[in-house]
Amino acid sequence: MSTWQEEFKNSIKTHEGLESFFNTSFPKTNYPILIPRPLAQRIKEEGLDSPLGKQFLPVVEELGEEGLIDPIGDHDQSPIPQIVHRYKNRILFFPTQTCPVICRYCFRKNELSTNDELFKSNLKNVLSYLKKHTEIEEIIFSGGDPLILSDEKISKYLKEFSQVSHIKYIRFHTRTPIILPSRITDNFCKMLKEFQERFTQINIVIHANHALEFTNKNREAIETLDKYRFSLLSQSVLLRGVNDTTEDLIDLINEFTSLKVRPYYLHHPDKVRGGLHFMLDIEEGRRLYSTLRNKISGWALPNYIIDIPGGEGKTSAFNPETYNFSGHLINRTGTKVPYN
Ligand code: SF4
Repeated sequence: MSTWQEEFKNSIKTHEGLESFFNTSFPKTNYPILIPRPLAQRIKEEGLDSPLGKQFLPVVEELGEEGLIDPIGDHDQSPIPQIVHRYKNRILFFPTQTCPVICRYCFRKNELSTNDELFKSNLKNVLSYLKKHTEIEEIIFSGGDPLILSDEKISKYLKEFSQVSHIKYIRFHTRTPIILPSRITDNFCKMLKEFQERFTQINIVIHANHALEFTNKNREAIETLDKYRFSLLSQSVLLRGVNDTTEDLIDLINEFTSLKVRPYYLHHPDKVRGGLHFMLDIEEGRRLYSTLRNKISGWALPNYIIDIPGGEGKTSAFNPETYNFSGHLINRTGTKVPYN
């Protein structure tokens, strides 16, 4: 049986490889191609125009020049490389730019890399930043996708972070359990478990956008994570043509909850260059979300959130106060800001 590393290495990574696998032509875009073969096979079965195909196959709309390179303003909030410090008590930490798949809607799509080479470690600077900022309680491993790193590398980071006494929480944002489920091994879970006593909580936030993404293999991977008692949360992006119906969202939420993954975030899509074809109007999103509120128990309802462009951070895209503010959002300081 191949290891997860071999499976990852064997992914479709070229335009020619993609055309040959699907026996059809695709437009050449400026963005990399990366699809693990089992996922490509699923896309073949479901159809190129299915919610699976739309998320991972290149389309001509990606050539558009409109949209933002850094839609949520990460760069302006990055005090040193590999860190974004936007909220006082937590940082985003980027140990890699690599992902198990390239999602065509990704808000970081202008910064990703398919190189196997990982970031050169800047760990010394990260640690010295953490030590100076005692208000930081949580490190959120993001990327790229942090679970694409080896167990050794993740363990090394956690060992170092565990020496910083004010760090209480660790969070991983990952698409890997869904896209490359073979990566969720017992060895990985045992390694992570070793740190469970040191940190108050280790949260794993699993990213999926449509019920069609779930297979027996990735359900087993999530069950393995649950067996080791990690706290499992979900995040999804609301995407035009992929999951923009009440039924799609309910099926997705049901998949998560049946696997004991607590629905956490439903992101409004970001205005990223090359991904504008996935955008929905904010009022459309609010209408859709309001239909969910009648059909899903409160504890299973993800927070519908939006990142205000320019680095202002996340805010609720829907709540009783903002629902009537057509074309507006309320930012973190309580100010009404226009959003169209
Ligand atoms: S796995 Fe996450 S970071 Fe990577 S391309 Fe997909 S959405 Fe973007």
